[in-house]
Amino acid sequence: MIKLGLIGDPISHSLSPIIHTTVMNYLGIEHSYEPYNVKKGDLEGYIRKIKEENILGFNVTMPHKVDIIKYLDVLDDDSIKFNSVNTVKYESGKLYGYNTDARGLVMSLSDNSVNLAGKNILILGAGGVASTIAVKFAEERPNKIIVLNRSLDKAKEVCNLVSKQSNVTTIYDELKNVENYTKATNLVVNTTPLGMHGIEEDFENLDFLNNLNKSTIVCDLIYNPRETLLLQQAKLLNIKTLNGLGMLIYQALISDEIYLNQKIDYKMLYKIICEKI
Ligand code: NAP
Repeated sequence: MIKLGLIGDPISHSLSPIIHTTVMNYLGIEHSYEPYNVKKGDLEGYIRKIKEENILGFNVTMPHKVDIIKYLDVLDDDSIKFNSVNTVKYESGKLYGYNTDARGLVMSLSDNSVNLAGKNILILGAGGVASTIAVKFAEERPNKIIVLNRSLDKAKEVCNLVSKQSNVTTIYDELKNVENYTKATNLVVNTTPLGMHGIEEDFENLDFLNNLNKSTIVCDLIYNPRETLLLQQAKLLNIKTLNGLGMLIYQALISDEIYLNQKIDYKMLYKIICEKI
């Protein structure tokens, strides 16, 4: 039997247990998958538990994706590039860190025929996931990446990180100036929690959607609710939309491949998971 887990805070809303349990059951693998609410600053106790109980692997969510790094022995290329870990495997006495978030989003975009090469990408927000996806997007040779955030300094940090690792043109500005950046945009990605279940705030004004070209895609990384106000409004304007569910499922499937060290049937499992949740 293998033991798997999830750490984060809050954790009760997470769909990860049902996704991973569905995968393991489909593959006929005897397992446990336990979510642990671990508060910021409390990682050490959980790391001890991993080793004592020989837990094979665990998923990492907010607010530990950066803090976990100092406890790990080996990091994969993506974790180093993004300075963020969402998957940890405990093997032969060592803790290995991986990041599957960005690959998950790229796979979800690809399913929806979104090609990033030569495109102008507008990222709303500049937190952990925004920097991860901005660096990943830059690898796909877009024309320009624009990062808009409530706090300007964080938007600048994300752009600096992209510039360190690529030649892609970057622009940063405050989120409130979003209307100035929509004209030639091909893809908008919301990485803020605005509109998320349990968060009271939402976009005060969605007029910027009116300026978007009809071929633009508006993607919200939020998956609860499945359709945020941002996506609802974009849909009303006949703009194609995508929520965060695809990214969530794919990043989980990639994690499971890492735990099991075996290829899994994404297409089949994606379908089964969607039916389950
Ligand atoms: P984070 O590091 O806390 O960053 C949050 C970002 O949102 C920051 O840039 C923050 O701006 C901005 N923000 C927060 N509240 C805001 C408000 N009231 N008004 C304007 N901006 C606000 O979080 P994260 O880890 O990047 O996660 C971001 C989102 O991605 C979450 O909604 C999460 O659910 C989603 N997510 C989805 C998946 C998936 O698989 N679909 C995976 C991971 C994360 P400041 O810098 O000004 O504070």
